[in-house]
Amino acid sequence: MKIPFSPPHIDEKIIAEVADALRSGWITTGQRTKLFEQKIADYCNCKRVVCVNSATAGLELTLHWFGIGVGDEVIIPAYTYTATAAAIIHCGAKPVMVDVNEDFLINVENVKKAITSNTKAVIPVDIAGFPCDYDKLFEIANDDNIKKLFKPKNREQEQLGRILILSDAAHSLGATFLEKKSGSLADITVFSFHAVKNLTTAEGGAISINLPANFDCDKIYNELCVNSLHGQTKDALAKTKAGGWRYDVSTIGYKCNMTDIAAAMGLVELERYDSLILPRRKEIFDRYHAAFINDDRFICPIFETSTKKTSYHVYALRIKNASENDRDRIIQQMAELGIATNVHFIPLPLLSAYKKLGYKIEHYPIAYNLFSNEISLPVYFNLTNEQVDIVIQALRNLL
Ligand SMILES: *Cc1c(COP(=O)(O)O)cnc(C)c1O
Repeated sequence: MKIPFSPPHIDEKIIAEVADALRSGWITTGQRTKLFEQKIADYCNCKRVVCVNSATAGLELTLHWFGIGVGDEVIIPAYTYTATAAAIIHCGAKPVMVDVNEDFLINVENVKKAITSNTKAVIPVDIAGFPCDYDKLFEIANDDNIKKLFKPKNREQEQLGRILILSDAAHSLGATFLEKKSGSLADITVFSFHAVKNLTTAEGGAISINLPANFDCDKIYNELCVNSLHGQTKDALAKTKAGGWRYDVSTIGYKCNMTDIAAAMGLVELERYDSLILPRRKEIFDRYHAAFINDDRFICPIFETSTKKTSYHVYALRIKNASENDRDRIIQQMAELGIATNVHFIPLPLLSAYKKLGYKIEHYPIAYNLFSNEISLPVYFNLTNEQVDIVIQALRNLL
């Protein structure tokens, strides 16, 4: 029996909704995208949501909106996917990497130490769906001495008066911290709807705006929408209204709007996300956990505390005392049994492009240790208990 790692959850309901979108005569950004934005905002309890075609584009659009560019620094964990850092580099700024905690999340003490007068933002990453310490991150950003270091360069930075907390929540839709949902935990939060994520639109992302009260979130919403579509003052839908052809281009924008075909998929999944998708993912996590928690050959991931709840995205198991080679061999042998596993993630300083930029893994010992013996197990809606047991048994036998 083959067990894939994370196939998308596509059923007849999604296919029917996509077919409806295709037949409707409107396939790019339109009513379905606007409805999806509203539903995500309601779900996360945040002010406004802009849908885009990827989380990467969402991060870049947000950094651009905040005026981040050459000479600026943005603090990120070394333990993340390349998208987090690439968005910063594409804006001309510098990613400043810091090491993480044993729970895979950015270490806030390290964030504090890394802040300079060039720091404009921090991008904490909710690895595996487990929320970062947002209370502590805001405490640092609002600290008087740290605020004094902040040198605003434009109106938005002046208005905020401190470092921006921009959450990379590619994994954490539905996760909570102190009963608040991801999407309302940071100033701005970016979700991914890529094919392997908990909720997918094939490719897609969303920017959730939750800035302090002195910001006009409706205005920012409009700005981000315009900037996701070439800076054009009218989107395709507005232009097709009879006589509405004339438009202006207010800024040299990006091109990363979401299509209604993608939104059709997202609408169906979001509707049943809390009632169906997350509960099943939780059952799978619990089944893995019960199997490994009392077996001292393994280190189980932390996915629930008194204040935090995961979105059950990645079950990041670690094999105690395994070297990188041991772990790789286990993945290979699992593959030979037809079981696909994965590693989340290769710390950025181990990748060629980041080595060339001068990042060194020696500076991130915890990230390296986590990576070296981590193995992500299959978790997806249609994974059966029998299959979970096969994965568990295979891993035990191989060890
Ligand atoms: C998937 C992922 C992204 C990028 O998402 P896209 O929608 O593919 O751009 C960003 N950050 C993390 C941590 C991810 O896992």
